[in-house]
Formats: sequence, structure tokens, C-alpha cells
Amino acid sequence: MLVGIDLGGTSIKAGLVDREGRILIQSFIDTKVGRDYRLIIKDMIDQIERLVWDYGSCIDDIESIGIGAPGLMNYKSGYAIYCTNLFWNNVPLGVIIEEHFKRPVYIENDATVAGLAESLFGSTRNVSNSVFLTIGTGIGGGIIINNKIYSGSHFAGSEIGHMIVGDNFYRCNCGNNGCLETFASATAMKKYAVERLEKDKIKSNILDKAEGKTDKINAKIIFDAAKEGDLLGTEIVDRMIKYLSIGIINVYNVLDPDMIAIGGGVSKAGDYLIERLKTEVGERIYTPNIKYGDIVLAQLGNEAGMLGAAFLEK
Ligand SMILES: [Zn+2]
Repeated sequence: MLVGIDLGGTSIKAGLVDREGRILIQSFIDTKVGRDYRLIIKDMIDQIERLVWDYGSCIDDIESIGIGAPGLMNYKSGYAIYCTNLFWNNVPLGVIIEEHFKRPVYIENDATVAGLAESLFGSTRNVSNSVFLTIGTGIGGGIIINNKIYSGSHFAGSEIGHMIVGDNFYRCNCGNNGCLETFASATAMKKYAVERLEKDKIKSNILDKAEGKTDKINAKIIFDAAKEGDLLGTEIVDRMIKYLSIGIINVYNVLDPDMIAIGGGVSKAGDYLIERLKTEVGERIYTPNIKYGDIVLAQLGNEAGMLGAAFLEK
């Protein structure tokens, strides 16, 4: 029996998983971010113990515990090096949990573990080299090479959302200007919509769909407006597709994977998004005669993080 934990800025999802990837039991708790990290980790320990108890099992049945968390994770030392959303710097996340349970504990970046889950049980299960992109408030990346996670020599690889793809009108959370996630995430689409509506006074159905309130604008509203032919909606989606295609082309040119899978909230735009991406990527590919990996929708949804975390290993 494996334990998988998806540690997020809002909630912590934990589950017991069998070797075939079946979720046996799972639970959610609030992260209550901003508290001392020791309290959050204590809650995770209690959550695991309750799950094991509720499933009628015992701690000895746990083979290993895996945790996916938002940020840079040193899987060798068990320290979370840097998590912006949790306000964590150098937190001994894996160390504390391993000391408590006396079981192997593995930590990894949350997008990376979701990519691992997709490669084991989801959209990219039939190929050995794949890249997973999760597009929501930001953009996370997971790289699988020869069926194994690749996260770089200093645990800072696969940060595809921070690939610089142009000049933008606002800075990324990381401090740089021009990161992919400032052009192609849900946040990026909303910020660009507000910029055009407020600064450039563009008329658009987007504002009506958001009940006249710019803070209610989201990626779904913008995609819906674009599908209905709204000019600003079309402009925002075109811009998002353009930069996401540039990011994907850069991934192809560096890694040449078998497949790229797109997940996260923005992937709810579904086949419309994928077809548009395929067209634009096809037009930008390095040489027209080269074969390149397919772009597909991820399959596992919100459970990918917890499932992938359970299958982490040394
Ligand atoms: Zn950045």
C-alpha cells in the first residue's frame, strides 16, 4: 500500500493507493496557509494516520509515502527548497514525515508528479518520453524521460512556466519579465482582458458575461466569448495560443518528446484548445518534414497529483 499526498496552497489531498494505481481511500483537509510549517506537516501526519485507521489497515502496511508540492523539492535531502504559495523556504517536509512514520518518504514538484501519473496511468502511458503541462493560475511542467522523472541537476528543471517567450506588460511572480505563464495561464488571460478593457476601453461581451465586474473574468468566459466571435475574446485566445505554441515549440526543439499532455483548469477548453494548438504549432515547427510528438489532453484530472506522488521512488 502506497500513500500519495497532493499538498496545495488551498487544500491537502491524501490517499492510500494500491500498486495498480487504484485509490483505496482519500481525504481532503484545508492547508490553512500562513501557519507555521510544523503545524501544516502535523496535519498531514494526522491525515495519513486517519486514512490508515479508516481503511482498517496499519502503519506497517505503508510501503512508502510520496508528496507532490508546489515549488522546488530536493528529493535527495527531503527539504522543500522553495514554495512561493506556501511561503516556505528550506522546510524539512520529507524529513519530519519520515522521522514520524519510519517509512521512505519522497517529495517532488506537484506538476512533475502529475506528469508521472499521466505517464503511468493516463494520456502518455504508452510512450516513454513525455512532457506534461498543467495550465491554471500558473503553468507547471513535468518531464518524463525513459519513463523516469527528470527534474534537473539542482531540482529546478522542468519549470516550463518560467520559460521566457517574449516581453510582457507585467512581471512574473518569479521576478522576471516574459515568462510563459504570464502569457498563457488563466491569470495571464484575465490580466490581459482587464488591461484591454480598462486601459484601452475596448468594448466586449466578456464584461457582460462577467456581470460587469472585471474581477469575475476567468478563462472560461474568455474562451466562450471567443467561440461566439467576440473580437476581444478572439484576440485574447489568439494571443494565448500563440505564446503557448512558442513554449511548446521550444520544448520540442530541446527535448523532442513522444507526446505533450495538457492538463489543469484551462485544459477544460478541451478539443477546441488542442486543435488550435496543433495548427499553430504545426506552422511554427522547425522544419516541415520532421516528425514530432502529438499534443493531447491529460486524462487524470485532479487526482493526478496524489496518484503520481504515491508512485515516487528513489
Ligand atoms: Zn517566471
